Amino acid sequence: MVILVKLALGCTAGVAVFLCLGYTFWMFLGLSLVTAGNMFGPRSAGTPDPRVRPVGTGEPAHRAYWSDQMWRDARDSVRGGLLSIRYRLTTEWLRRSVPRLFRGRRPTTGIRGVNKFTRTVLRAVAPGTAAGAILGALLATLVTTLVLLVFGVLLALVWLSAVTAVGLLRAVERLWRLVRHIRMKCPHPGCYLPFGLAVHRCPDCGAAHGELRPGRYGVLWHVCGCGRRLATTSLGGRGSFAARCPSCEQELPEAVGRTRVVHLPLIGGTSSGKTMLMAAMVAGLQAWSRRTRLTVEYASPSDRKEATALKRQVDSAGWALKTQGGPPRALMLYVGHGRQRRLLYLYDPMGESLRDAGVVREQQYLAHADGVVLVADVLAEPQVRRALHGDDANLAAGARPADQGPMDTYQRLTGELSALTGRRGRLPVATVVTKRDVLDGIAALPVPGTRIDGWLEGIGLGALVRAVRHDFGTARYWAVSARAATGAGALDREQRRAAEPVLWVLALSGLRVGSLVAEDHSAGLPGPRAGTATGTGTGTAAETDQVKG
Ligand SMILES: [Zn+2]
Ligand SMILES: [Zn+2]
Repeated sequence: MVILVKLALGCTAGVAVFLCLGYTFWMFLGLSLVTAGNMFGPRSAGTPDPRVRPVGTGEPAHRAYWSDQMWRDARDSVRGGLLSIRYRLTTEWLRRSVPRLFRGRRPTTGIRGVNKFTRTVLRAVAPGTAAGAILGALLATLVTTLVLLVFGVLLALVWLSAVTAVGLLRAVERLWRLVRHIRMKCPHPGCYLPFGLAVHRCPDCGAAHGELRPGRYGVLWHVCGCGRRLATTSLGGRGSFAARCPSCEQELPEAVGRTRVVHLPLIGGTSSGKTMLMAAMVAGLQAWSRRTRLTVEYASPSDRKEATALKRQVDSAGWALKTQGGPPRALMLYVGHGRQRRLLYLYDPMGESLRDAGVVREQQYLAHADGVVLVADVLAEPQVRRALHGDDANLAAGARPADQGPMDTYQRLTGELSALTGRRGRLPVATVVTKRDVLDGIAALPVPGTRIDGWLEGIGLGALVRAVRHDFGTARYWAVSARAATGAGALDREQRRAAEPVLWVLALSGLRVGSLVAEDHSAGLPGPRAGTATGTGTGTAAETDQVKG
């Protein structure tokens, strides 16, 4: 009896091992690996895969495969591989083939054994078949788990290398900005907020991408919701996409993250000739660019439009309209010399502070200014006006003096600066005496010579010169006829002089244009008449002076 039981057990074990090693192990292993592999491939090529998550509501880009979908595919793969073994074992073997064998039927077809012997043999191998199937399934599960573990390590390596690439690319970009002194700040007055990354627009669908840099949406490029690939680095061409400030949402110039921005506010009273001076400065930079290696271009089409409108108005009317309501006159220009380039922002912050009441905002422009142009309309100074009589007084009145004398303007400037301690000493101040053509015609006033600071002292504005000298470390003086520098028959020489304060501030920012400013004047001293360049046209301010002098 014992021998019989032993024999039966031995037979069962033999059938089980034979079936396991000969068939079920390999069958289950193949099944699980194929199922696991299929989880990584597309469900049906060419059609949208329901497993891929749609673009979220935040960033309009698809997540990079390695950052998101890869892990979900891996999870599905493990689950699919192991479940396939269990499913096949229970449905095909333990619930179908094995019961059929126990009932003396063929396992695959379910047909009853033809005679008693066949049915006995079928019944006899039934326990061994069940054990073989279970054994094969267990072994296949073990091997599949090991294979998937190794595969998981490889996936982790893929993820790690992607994350390393992200960190490296970001570090390179940050270092590059640091070396080139590029501050990522909004150049728009009233905002100036620093930002790590601009919002870029997809050129195809216009979607706003706030995270267009190496990261979880892709290392070298992101895929927009519309399907377009967008480069994530400056080197890859990200700069070619339209960008806007993440805080004020205004358009940013193309090179804002690649070029150093130089803020130059023009400060003066209403009707002091600021806008005319701005037009003259732009014309002056262009005049310099025709003669030297200096390059000047508008930062955006809207700057070109603004400058053209300003020029047309100045050319036709001979003076600039006071800006009513709308945004203040502001211009962004790329000024380059050789391989260096600056993004110059010329604007009138006073017009702005009249619009926004926030005191902090008013002072912000000074915290970011690289220099200040103090627009001095000396005819607005009561002390100067009192000394004028007869024709001189009429001439001065005809020049529509500003509502504010240079002294008042200066006090307003230092008042706004008072909150910014430590800033004064470093801020260069270019004092530009405007309306020189009118000043030249006034007999009672001395002729503005090469030393404008001395001239200012001579006409009773010594206090201004002393205050500037005392309060600011770096200061220079110019006298400019914006009228002679703009309009029909504009003088090349006067234009270039109007641009000198700008070039001076640009030179202090590290652009190698200092030699241009010094070119006309010995020892870099300001002054119009010592120059060698020749003016063209007639009726110029300089010529009037010479006649008078
Ligand atoms: Zn798009
Ligand atoms: Zn902004």
